[in-house]
Formats: sequence, structure tokens, C-alpha cells
Amino acid sequence: MSSGGTSPSTASVLGKRVLTLTLGVGFLGGLGIPAAGAGAAATADPQAIVQQQAPSLPSGRTTYRTITDYNDEMLALSARHPGLVKHITLPHKTRQGREVYGIEVTHDVGAADGKPVLLMMGVHHGNEWPSGEHTMEFAYDLIDNDGKDPQVTRLLDKARVVFVPVVNVDGFVINRRTSCGLSPTCASSAGVDINRNYPFGWGSNAGSNATTRGPGPGSEPEVQNVMDLTKNNQVTVLITNHTSGHTVLRPPLEKRAGDTPDEAVYAALTDAITAENGYTGMKSGFDYETTGETPDWSYYATRGLGFTFEIMKTQSTSNTYSEVIEDYTGTGRYEGKSNREAFMAALEYAADPAGHSVITGKAPKGAVLKIAKDFDLWTAPIRQANNVVDPPQRIPTHLQSTLVTPANGKFAWHVNPSVRPAPAYTETGVVATGPGNFIKESWTLTCARPTGEVLETVHVTVDRGEQVDVRLQECKTRFNGNGPKN
Ligand SMILES: [Zn+2]
Repeated sequence: MSSGGTSPSTASVLGKRVLTLTLGVGFLGGLGIPAAGAGAAATADPQAIVQQQAPSLPSGRTTYRTITDYNDEMLALSARHPGLVKHITLPHKTRQGREVYGIEVTHDVGAADGKPVLLMMGVHHGNEWPSGEHTMEFAYDLIDNDGKDPQVTRLLDKARVVFVPVVNVDGFVINRRTSCGLSPTCASSAGVDINRNYPFGWGSNAGSNATTRGPGPGSEPEVQNVMDLTKNNQVTVLITNHTSGHTVLRPPLEKRAGDTPDEAVYAALTDAITAENGYTGMKSGFDYETTGETPDWSYYATRGLGFTFEIMKTQSTSNTYSEVIEDYTGTGRYEGKSNREAFMAALEYAADPAGHSVITGKAPKGAVLKIAKDFDLWTAPIRQANNVVDPPQRIPTHLQSTLVTPANGKFAWHVNPSVRPAPAYTETGVVATGPGNFIKESWTLTCARPTGEVLETVHVTVDRGEQVDVRLQECKTRFNGNGPKN
């Protein structure tokens, strides 16, 4: 293992970010663990020793996975680590009827414990194989280093990481960018670019057309899977991996939408991430303009910070696995700049209460707490060929998460702020909103018996970095059967 990553000169790509060097040192120490572990069973054969010293992914893989590999590995990981890894089946099958799988990773993974969530995905575009590899390797990295690497162990105490390495399974199995869309035969002309199908701002004429964006906003089951995950978890950071170009992209997708209300926070986290992987951080619309991508929808729906990572410099999927390894581990042509450490920086932020909100309180043991929000988002006006403009469509949006009160009755629920960014796409069209422009909404918090009977409802208004304590005295009294009958 080279020590090049510890050299101060490695900060030169972003010279102002010298502070991140401490993470670089930790990375080199941490990476030695899986690399050595993977080769531990090898014989004393000199060739085997050479292989141990070569840069290695956490899983030790050297070739691209098939969909069977992904699915089998996720099942095996959950079977091998029952308290740490939970296998999930997403609610919607693909257009071709395939299941979409993922895993969740955290300590005591089966508990509804109110931890903040990092959601990491790959392969929205079916021909972007490296995006699934990096997603899967980061899962191995966390799982194999739990209990060994102090940073990983600490973060798995504080946060939950949800992995969906292959979102567009139909496109992946035929090595095509688009999904199958409505074509029963998966005809290429009918394929939907599911990264143009998210409903927020959907239909704008930037970077998509009536076929590739799909028949309606959020019409595709693959997109609905990601939306359901995001709406039903407190996803404080979202990373959707794509290829290629070494960029880390944040909203807006279209320049006319303007900066997000959280631009300063978004830019700071972008800087922390790109200091690690050496990528170029930018607003997505300044690369090329589109609408209907994942991070704009997820940010304006939840205020969690969503990013598109364009990993690799090579788009091709053949003969590029050495670059997959070097990009992840920060070796070879990417010496000292690793995507692994960029993911860790994102996870650090996802876990940090300063970056989201916390609702604390006491409730009866076993009481089921829910927080929910309802509001509308809007698509973009669509200018048709005859210059007729179709008006924006309303997108009713319901967020809901659940926590089960632990035995000691105390809970600390890490959530996204209830205060919502003012969206640029509205009922009347596109209006740039800009920094600091928020809508003061509340979470509706209910305290219920496990049977679902709601005993108390309160409203909680909380902004980024804030903590609010709630008293659920009525729920406590009624839960224990001493309250007024009704
Ligand atoms: Zn892509």
C-alpha cells in the first residue's frame, strides 16, 4: 500500500481544503483491513502475496457483477450478519416483472430506531455498471470494517445506510441506458430514461423528450421504488451513482430554477466530498440542463441533500474494472483521491445532527410514533410543438416515518427539517426561489398503540440544526389505561 495519500500535496486539487487530510490518513489505515483479510486464507505462494499487496476492493472483486451476483451477495450478507444487515425487497417490480432488492446496514438493523439515513444507489442507467459496483463495495466496506475501524463503527451507531445497487434492473440485464418502459418486448424506442421521470419539474423541455421522460411524472415503477424509500425514511443525504466524468452534482438541474434555498449548506458539503475524491463539484444545470432527475425531487420533497456522483472518467463498461478499483480505493491514476472517502464524508454529514433536525421526548415503551407531512409539488409547464403550453401538474406528496419507543421510554428521532424549501416549480410555472426561501411547515407527530389507535397528536416545527423536545403526557396516560375514556 502506497503512502501517497498522506502527502500534503494531495490537497492541491482543492488547495483550500487542507483540513481533510486527517480523513485521508484514516482511510489508508482502514483500507489495509479488508485487503489483508481478503487474502488471509491464501497460501504462502509468492504470487498470492503479490496479489495481497495490489489495490483491492473491500469484496476483493476484479470483474463486473451480473444481476445474479448482486442479488446473491445481498442475500448472503444479510444471512451472515443478521444484526447488522437487513435484506429488503422494494415495493414495485420492474416493468418486466423483476424484483428490485437492497440492503440496510446499521447496528441493531431490525429496530425502528429513528436514526438518520444515507440512501445510496447505482444503475439508474442500465449501462453504467461501475455505479452499481461502487455502491456495493461501500456496503462491504461498512460491513467488514464494523467493529474494526473506529470511524465505521461509530457511524453505524449513529446512522442507517440503505443500499440499492441496481435500480434499473431491466436496463442493466440488457446493458441499456433506459428501462423497458411500456413496451412488452422492451423495444429500445420505448425505453424510459428513469433519471428524467422524477415528478419535480418533470416535463420541462430541457434535456428530455416525451418518450425518454416517460408517460407521466413518476410513472415508472423503478422511480416509485426510490420515491417510496425516500418518503418513508428520514434520508438526510442521498447519493445516486452514475458514470462518468468525475463530477459531484447538486441542484438545480435547470439554470432558470435558481439556487436552492440551502445553497450554502449544499455547497459546503459538496466541497467536503470533492476534497476526498478530487471530483469537480457543481450545480447540475451548469454541466448540461435536464429535469426529472433524482436529487432535485428528493431535495425539494424532503430537504435532505441529494447528489449525483458521476464516477469514473471512462463511460465504457468493457475492460474498465481496474479503473473501478482505482476510483474507489484512490490508487493508480487516482492516487490519494478516493471515492470511498467521499462516501465516508457524506455519511459523516448524514449522521451529524447539525445537518438535520432532532425530535426528542418520552413516550410509553412500545408506543408507535409516526411523523407525517403532506404538501404538493409541481411538474414544469410543457411547451408542445404547436406552441401550446400544457400547465403544470400537481404532485401530492406524503412523507411518513415510524419509530417504536424503546424500553426506557426515551427517544431521539433524527429527521429532516419540517421547514421546507420553497420550490421553483409551482402551479403557475417556474420561478427561481433562491437562498433562504423556505416554507414554515410542521411535522404531524402521532403517538399510538401498536394496534394503530392514535392517543395523541402534536405538531412539531423544526429547522436544520435544531432539536425540539416533545411532551406526550396524554399518550402516556391513555396508553397505560388511566386516562379518560372516549
Ligand atoms: Zn447516468
